[in-house]
Amino acid sequence: MSNRQRSNFSDSSLSGRVIGWREHVALPQLNIPKIKAKIDTGARSSALHAFNIRELSLGGKQIMRFQVYPQEENSCNAIAAKAELQEYREIRNSGGVAQLRPIITTNIQLGSEIWAIELSLTDREAMGFRMFLGREDIRNKFLVDQVVRFFKARVNHENGADSPFRTFRTSYSQELPMKIAILSQSANLYSTRRLREAGQEQGHDMRVIDYLRCYMNITSKKPTIVYKGKPLENFDAIIPRVGASKTFYGTAVVRQFEVMDVFSPNASQAISRSRDKLRSMQILAREGVGLPVTGFAHATQDIDGLIETVGGAPLVIKLLEGTQGIGVVLAETYQAAKSVIEAFRGLDANILVQEFIKEAGGADLRCFVVGGQVIAAMKRQGAEGEFRSNLHRGGNAQAIKLSAEETDTAIRAAKAMGLKVAGVDLLRSNHGPVVMEVNSSPGLEGIEKATDVDVAGKIIEFIAANAAELDHSISIRY
Ligand code: ADP
Ligand code: MG
Repeated sequence: MSNRQRSNFSDSSLSGRVIGWREHVALPQLNIPKIKAKIDTGARSSALHAFNIRELSLGGKQIMRFQVYPQEENSCNAIAAKAELQEYREIRNSGGVAQLRPIITTNIQLGSEIWAIELSLTDREAMGFRMFLGREDIRNKFLVDQVVRFFKARVNHENGADSPFRTFRTSYSQELPMKIAILSQSANLYSTRRLREAGQEQGHDMRVIDYLRCYMNITSKKPTIVYKGKPLENFDAIIPRVGASKTFYGTAVVRQFEVMDVFSPNASQAISRSRDKLRSMQILAREGVGLPVTGFAHATQDIDGLIETVGGAPLVIKLLEGTQGIGVVLAETYQAAKSVIEAFRGLDANILVQEFIKEAGGADLRCFVVGGQVIAAMKRQGAEGEFRSNLHRGGNAQAIKLSAEETDTAIRAAKAMGLKVAGVDLLRSNHGPVVMEVNSSPGLEGIEKATDVDVAGKIIEFIAANAAELDHSISIRY
């Protein structure tokens, strides 16, 4: 037997009670099917490294809400958990530094043994182990072999289909209140108001944060956002409602929340992308989403060539960063097209030139996509004699049933843009549905009134079901 493998406990009658100095354990009440624990006989009590630790008052009890990365080598799947707070206690770490930590009680399973332990929660950067099992919690239960690791690993947590731990995995958030920030310039806007109401109805703690009044320390190792003189802490999710003209600062705030591991249905990058019509169209074209034939120019000398690209007049000319129909011009004749392009050229503006989808008849379809599904759709009809259907331009809206192809186009467009909440605008062209634009902060008023769908509620439900599993692939890391 090599030195490394030699065990202090060779007596087989004891071996059932012997554990290694590190073991896989389960914390079923915390939804943690498997976590590697260091059996730390040098410490009196047990500790769990968690983050986003937050105390809530719920039904007269104090509840701790927190998230855990059960695998130290993989920080992709955070598990969210809650437990009743027992008390705050001063705990000394291995370096002797005292820290006031919340204490919870929870069941632990090691091998076939299940018992209750006390855990202190700490959010100090976990060095290696995410969990420490102290001597008080193994006394009279196990003997620790200081040489061998994973004594119980083989018999432990296979996590097969019949494993008791499977059943503990639930989407925590459906039962747990979350703290959600709506990033919006005003609490009085219809969309903001509805999101706040819907969140409160579902039991969440909703805050409206004017992102323009946030400031950030972007270089700190511990990223923070300060609002009204106080750091914004312990948010589970944000709902960005970034105004088109405030994209630059708004997405910077969203990005800072991302760095702080706060869930956002729409990532900062996806919002920025969606704000640039040209970039959006390039992304959609690459993904094979139907689009009107479109040309792009800045100050082309070859206006004829540009007009020919889209098949001649009539055609639509758009300023690259317009919204609400402003900056969208229909040129009915070749001459009109030429003069408008020349005028925009004189203004040093970037423009898109697009085939005119006449058969759309001044109407477009707004498809509201949440989490990869169209949850509501309406048809907007421009005012008499108006080819632009924007409600801001006096159009009217009514609920509509989309065709399978239209639904599919809307879903693919939102997905291509990386948006989990999106308003996809389609035109019904004689070559199938074509995407006009994909909006990352679609308004709720028009769609809720036209369709009677609780759009705000659906957005909140989506966030609640998804915030637990932070998707780091979409967030920007240092
Ligand atoms: P905005 O971002 O300002 O809303 P859009 O590109 O959505 O600009 O255009 C505004 C409206 O103009 C659309 O909702 C649609 O009704 C109409 N429109 C835009 N492009 C075309 C086109 N190529 N053919 C027909 N109608 C169009
Ligand atoms: Mg539009």
